Amino acid sequence: MKKTVHIVGAGVSGLGAAHYLAQQGIDSVIYETSGQLGGRAAGVEEEGTLFEVGGKNFSSQWLRFNALLREFDITGFDPQHPDFHIVLNDRLVKLDKRRTLSGDLRLAMQLGVRGSLQLKRFLDYSRKHAHELNHSQGLIQQVEERWDYKPAAGHFAPSLLAGPIRMFSIIMGAAEPEEIFPSQLMLFTSGFGKGEHFAIQGGIQRFHQALANGKHIRFGERVERILIEQGKVKGLVVKGAKGEETIMADAVISAVPAHVFKRLLTLPIAIREACERIRYYPLAMINALYDKPVFRDGINSIMFNPGSILGHCSANRQYQPEQVRFTLSGIAARQILQFPDDILIERAEREFSRYLPISGRRVAVKVTRHMGGICAYAPYFSRVKHILLGGIAEIDGLEIAGDYLEGHTMEGCLHSAELAVQRLLAR
Ligand SMILES: Cc1cc2nc3c(=O)[nH]c(=O)nc-3n(C[C@H](O)[C@H](O)[C@H](O)COP(=O)(O)OP(=O)(O)OC[C@H]3O[C@@H](n4cnc5c(N)ncnc54)[C@H](O)[C@@H]3O)c2cc1C
Repeated sequence: MKKTVHIVGAGVSGLGAAHYLAQQGIDSVIYETSGQLGGRAAGVEEEGTLFEVGGKNFSSQWLRFNALLREFDITGFDPQHPDFHIVLNDRLVKLDKRRTLSGDLRLAMQLGVRGSLQLKRFLDYSRKHAHELNHSQGLIQQVEERWDYKPAAGHFAPSLLAGPIRMFSIIMGAAEPEEIFPSQLMLFTSGFGKGEHFAIQGGIQRFHQALANGKHIRFGERVERILIEQGKVKGLVVKGAKGEETIMADAVISAVPAHVFKRLLTLPIAIREACERIRYYPLAMINALYDKPVFRDGINSIMFNPGSILGHCSANRQYQPEQVRFTLSGIAARQILQFPDDILIERAEREFSRYLPISGRRVAVKVTRHMGGICAYAPYFSRVKHILLGGIAEIDGLEIAGDYLEGHTMEGCLHSAELAVQRLLAR
């Protein structure tokens, strides 16, 4: 049994790993380069306003996330909007998550016969086989063989690429349909419209704080290297305020994105290449609060069209129409992500106001750039993952958790953390 496990990163994956280790009576130390918990799902308070700057919504269907909420006695949840409005042919068209096409004539008319039938077939197939679809094996391998020889853009009618398929691509990986592969969309749509979505009252950081409770976290300490000698973990090189330190360690869980992990050690070429095939697309989030409702007329959430700098914008909570989360994602957004905050805000508000004019005064705002991006996986992903996990298994004492293994949601991160702990203890 390992005495102490050293974990890189205090996002949901790293905190989850520490928690699952603690359940087995095993101590851990988490190294977190920033000063805060939660990584890309952080909640940040500034001048009395709480901004949730990344992941925050969860599904009633998620086993691990909901089990932890019960364990921590976290109650009080806000329902999320049940529908999206999509910009199609320059108009806002409603897509109800549950009804999708059944009876949704207005959407069907915008998509045309071919688009409507294709979408229906795709959704029906993914939902019908949801229980057989996962990130590792079984049906997903057949789906990959059949579809992943070209990106989603090569498979669907133009009306879908401008609307629902772009919506899935943007939500799934901040990607355009030409940058994402059908198997990944299918994993996403297999859960689309199932269960209810909520956010935690008081903010997602309540969840992180509960996970972090009693754990040993070294904030402001960046892991520079994971040291491996003769196929075994030997230690970590950590850089903090006092300089660089080498820490002896025989068990390490990396809980950072794949593009960070691959820089922490010299990997065999096959594992390195597998990491490099996993795509991440950057985005920015603008959280803005106005003194009047922005969302109205039954609209809670808008998906924008190709060429727009906006991917998706939502009311922060269903009952908070004056709080907007603008996400700048997709190809056009990537060209401007490094622009100053005020320019991003002005461009986002202007674009948004073309469809739903903002009449209120902005009273608080926070811009967060996620330049490391969100994970859009890879074509033939189950093969990539097999190579990755097979290679890691050759290194004694090393495990990986993160958004690139079991889905890029908080549930996926917890799942990856649980599996990383199980594999580490089984060795
Ligand atoms: C805008 C946005 C909206 C999202 N919405 C949702 C949502 O509503 N629901 C949902 O479930 N998911 C959502 N997600 C996805 C979800 O937030 C992520 O999948 C999840 O937070 C990833 O967690 P992680 O721990 O794997 O990685 P991260 O959150 O990236 O955590 C990694 C941590 O490691 C630290 N770190 C990095 N390098 C080092 C190093 N060398 N040494 C030490 N520490 C290091 C980082 O600072 C970070 O804290 C969203 C993501 C974004 C960006």
